[in-house]
Amino acid sequence: MKTEIKIIRVPIPTPTLWPHTSTNCYLVGNDEESILVDAGYDQPDTRICLEKAIEEHGLARPSLILLTHSHRDHAPGVKQLADWNPTIVCHPTEKEAIIDAISPLEEILLVHDGELLTVANVELKVLHTPGHTPGHLSLYVESKQVLLAGDNILGEGTTWIGKPDGVMADYLQSLKRIHSLDIKKLGPGHGDWVLSPHQQIEFVLDRRLTREQQIKDLLVEHEKGSPTSLTKLIYQDQIHPSVFEVARRTTEAHLIKLVNEGLVIQEDGDYRIST
Ligand SMILES: [Zn+2]
Repeated sequence: MKTEIKIIRVPIPTPTLWPHTSTNCYLVGNDEESILVDAGYDQPDTRICLEKAIEEHGLARPSLILLTHSHRDHAPGVKQLADWNPTIVCHPTEKEAIIDAISPLEEILLVHDGELLTVANVELKVLHTPGHTPGHLSLYVESKQVLLAGDNILGEGTTWIGKPDGVMADYLQSLKRIHSLDIKKLGPGHGDWVLSPHQQIEFVLDRRLTREQQIKDLLVEHEKGSPTSLTKLIYQDQIHPSVFEVARRTTEAHLIKLVNEGLVIQEDGDYRIST
């Protein structure tokens, strides 16, 4: 028998990065069984929002909580849900960071790329999509052509990729991979449902490749540059001050990718085109 499941986006207020003011948690399931994807920030609002949504949509209380990644606006909210006795689902590469984020909770189930979780008789496919963090997970609800993409894609703007967790080359690979999926709806880590997912993924890919080219052009023009000087040149004064630091780290992540590819070299904190 084919069971119907619901996928409910629950935005939880969090002190996250501008322009977003909430983190999305997703409830997937029905009145018999459900799973929660991400748990927001560690504050009482998290629980209030989730319990309200569970009741409103007639869902079972989740026994599994999949954390896309360890960041403080996605993972530590599980501490508010300790009495649900949840099993926390994460990727082995993210395990240590998750343990730090959710302590004292400790019931962890490690899942690998391609593994299936069955919830309310529906198979949900776990995808390892590194880049924003090394063990970042996405959840693919193939039967509904829906991807819960965590911070790979945002409802508005682009994700920051940088130290200490981010690797640009991995991120671009992950974007190409999720672009190849048969999806009609994408649930981002922040912001509203994305209803033209392929277009949005192309927009982000294009932004990253354009930025990479711009950085190379600036290094040619100015002979050398640092992540800070390049970020100032890229944005002129058009950047919200609260996100300058993550923009700088994203520039640095591009530079690290170019160094690994042998196109750029680093000397005393400055970068220049390799000749
Ligand atoms: Zn994040």
